[in-house]
Amino acid sequence: MNRSKSEQYYAEALEHIVGGVNSPSRSFKAVGGGAPVFMKRGQGAYFYDEDDNKYIDYLAAYGPIITGHAHPHITKAITEAASNGTLLGTPTVLEIKLAKMLKEAIPSMDKVRFVNSGTEAVMTTIRVARAYTKRNKIIKFAGNYHGHSDLVLVAAGSGPSTLGIPDSAGIPASIAQEVITVPYNDLSGLEEALQKWGHDVAAVMVEPIVGNFGMVMPKPGFLEGLCKLAHDHGALVIYDEVITAFRFHYGSTQTYAGLDNHDLIKPDLTALGKIIGGGLPIGAYGGSKEVMEQVAPLGPAYQAGTMAGNPASISAGIACLEVLSQPGVYEEMERLTIKLTEGIQAAADRHGIPLTINRVRGSFSTHFCDHPVTDYEEAQDTDGEAFASFFQHMLNRGVHLAPSKYEAWFLTTEHTDADIEATIEAADSSFEAMAK
Ligand code: PLP
Repeated sequence: MNRSKSEQYYAEALEHIVGGVNSPSRSFKAVGGGAPVFMKRGQGAYFYDEDDNKYIDYLAAYGPIITGHAHPHITKAITEAASNGTLLGTPTVLEIKLAKMLKEAIPSMDKVRFVNSGTEAVMTTIRVARAYTKRNKIIKFAGNYHGHSDLVLVAAGSGPSTLGIPDSAGIPASIAQEVITVPYNDLSGLEEALQKWGHDVAAVMVEPIVGNFGMVMPKPGFLEGLCKLAHDHGALVIYDEVITAFRFHYGSTQTYAGLDNHDLIKPDLTALGKIIGGGLPIGAYGGSKEVMEQVAPLGPAYQAGTMAGNPASISAGIACLEVLSQPGVYEEMERLTIKLTEGIQAAADRHGIPLTINRVRGSFSTHFCDHPVTDYEEAQDTDGEAFASFFQHMLNRGVHLAPSKYEAWFLTTEHTDADIEATIEAADSSFEAMAK
C-alpha cells in the first residue's frame, strides 16, 4: 500500500507540530514507528487517506464516533447549530435537553454541568469531591486513565499503602503524594489503602469497566465492594465513564445489566465525555444534588468555561444519543462484534498465535498472550512486538486499529457483515505472515 503522501505530511508536520501529532496516542511510536496515516476524510465505518487508500476504521476516534463518520443526523444537527451561532456565551435550551437526556439514562446524576473534555470533567469531579469532604487524597486504580490533569497522571508507588509518584515530568512530587494507586479488581489492596489513608481520602476514582488497558470487566462484587469500602471510610465514589457511557447500552456502567446490584454500585459523581458530544469536543460531570451544590455559582468549588455547553457540541450530542436510542442498535453492534472476535480468535488459533480477546458488547481488545487479562499487570505482560507487527500488517491490508496494545477496538452502527468478513480475512493473512 502506497502511503507516500502521509510520509511527506508527517515530515512536514514534524517541523511545525510537536512530535507531528496533537495527541501522543496518535503517534506510531508504540507500534514500531513510522508515519501515522494522514486521513483526508471519514465516511461511515471507513477512513480515506491522503493517498486515497481506504481503511475499515476500528479506532472510532478513540470512542466518540459510535455512529460512524459524518452521520447524516449528526451532521445536520451541527450545521443547524452553526447557522444559529457557534458560541453564544449565554444559556440555551439545547443544554437543558441534553442534561435531561443524560439524567434519564444515568439516574445517579441529579445535576449536570457541561465542560469541554473528559480531562476537564474528571479534574472537576476531584475538586468537587475535595470540597464536599474537606479531604485531600484520591485513590485510583493502576492502568485506569483519567485524562491528563496533574492529579491523575500519577503511577503507583511500590505497593498499595505507598503514595504515588508522578507519571509525567512537570508534576510536582507533592501533588503525586495526594494520590494512592491500587490494582484494579483488587478489593484487599483498596481496603489496605483505605485503612492507612482513609481519614484523608476524598474519593475513590475508577473506570468501572476499564477501557484503557484493553477492555476489562470488573470481577463480580468488585464495584459493590469498592462503593461500600469508600463510603464506610467517608470517601466519595467517582466513576470515570468517559469511555463507557453509552458505549455498551443506552446508559452507563452503573445501569449496565449483568453487573452487581445497581443500587449498591451507585457513584456520588460521574465524569462523562466522548460519545455524549457526537464527535465534537465535550465533557460533563454530574452527581447527587447535595454534592453538586458545591459547584459555583451555588457553592465554593469554582469551575468555568468559555466554550462549555456550546450549541454545536450539545446539538451533536443530542443527535448522537437520538441515533443510539433507536431499538436494536446495541444488539446489532454486539452481533457483529461476536462474529468478528470469534473469527479473529479462530484465525489466531489456526496460526498458533497466542491471543486473548476481552469483549464487552460492541468493543473488545486483543492481547497477545496465553493468559486472561483482568488487571494492568496482566495487560502489561503481553507481547507488544506481536501487537505492533499485527497492527502494521492490518494497516497494510486496509484495517485501521488504534496504535497501542492497550487500546480497544470500537465498532460503530455503520459496520456491516461485509466489513467484519473483510477484517477477519485481513487478520487471518496477518497472522499467517506473523507465523512465518
Ligand atoms: N477518562 C477516560 C476513561 C478516558 O479514556 C479519557 C480519554 O481517553 C479521558 C478521561 C480524557 O478525556 P479527553 O481526552 O476528552 O480529555
